[in-house]
Amino acid sequence: MLQVKARIIENKELLPETYYRLSLKTPPIARLAKPGQFVHLRVNEKIFPLLRRPFSIHSVHKENIQILYKVTGAGTGILSRRKKDELLDVIGPLGNGYRLPDKRTKVILVAGGAGVASLCFLSQRLASCPAVLIGGRSKRDILGRDKFKRLKTKIKISTEDGSLGKKGLVTDLLQELLPTLHSPLPTVIYACGPMKMLKETAKIAERHRALCYVSLEEFIVCGVGACQGCAVRTKNGYKRVCKDGPVFDSKEIIW
Ligand SMILES: Cc1cc2nc3c(=O)[nH]c(=O)nc-3n(C[C@H](O)[C@H](O)[C@H](O)COP(=O)(O)OP(=O)(O)OC[C@H]3O[C@@H](n4cnc5c(N)ncnc54)[C@H](O)[C@@H]3O)c2cc1C
Repeated sequence: MLQVKARIIENKELLPETYYRLSLKTPPIARLAKPGQFVHLRVNEKIFPLLRRPFSIHSVHKENIQILYKVTGAGTGILSRRKKDELLDVIGPLGNGYRLPDKRTKVILVAGGAGVASLCFLSQRLASCPAVLIGGRSKRDILGRDKFKRLKTKIKISTEDGSLGKKGLVTDLLQELLPTLHSPLPTVIYACGPMKMLKETAKIAERHRALCYVSLEEFIVCGVGACQGCAVRTKNGYKRVCKDGPVFDSKEIIW
């Protein structure tokens, strides 16, 4: 884990005042980063907001890392106004990251909204993946599709308002897909998104005897396992999302 001042290469607005993609030049973090890990950013040098904000590593290109974020409050609002060439105080890479799948498995990626961020990075390390399922409230929340092109995979979309893909939830897509995967190979699901979506994904995975890894986006305070502020209940006692996670085997979590 490192603390660096990273230069902003780009802070691109993908959807007006909502989604942004931030590229940071930080060779040491780029070198160490693994899919599923996150960085903890200070959005400015002022007293407010005092706490850092956690963001998954969305991709790595040579010396740069990218994060994909949604403006949801004061911290991300400030971050969205930071400009090219300014410096950001970054701690990372943090957390355990995704356990990469065995070659003899079928990998399904399930993303909800900005949860697609960490799965894009994971897809850079996969040899193959039969399906990527992406869901959001509307077509404006469907991001990152271009990042999966390399895998030549089937991308299925769902939106709650029906403005793109199938009307409904991304877990409906998963429910439909799993029984059609007639394969002797075991299935591994990687999921990132809102807690409700992850809970439902875990249930469906269990029903189909698929291994399922979920990346939790609980509130994180210190980011290094000291404050216990992000503890979640698991079958092995309380675990810290920032240090023991953010990726967990879905069967371990007490939902
Ligand atoms: C390990 C991890 C990885 C994450 N990766 C990403 C990412 O790649 N892209 C991204 O857009 N966001 C990600 N998040 C969520 C992101 O950290 C929060 O959205 C951000 O901290 C909000 O800061 P804020 O000051 O703008 O909002 P606040 O003023 O703190 O909160 C505003 C609103 O955002 C919601 N919110 C705050 N924190 C979270 C959270 N952790 N999860 C869900 N909702 C939250 C609150 O419910 C509130 O309604 C991640 C969170 C974790 C723990």
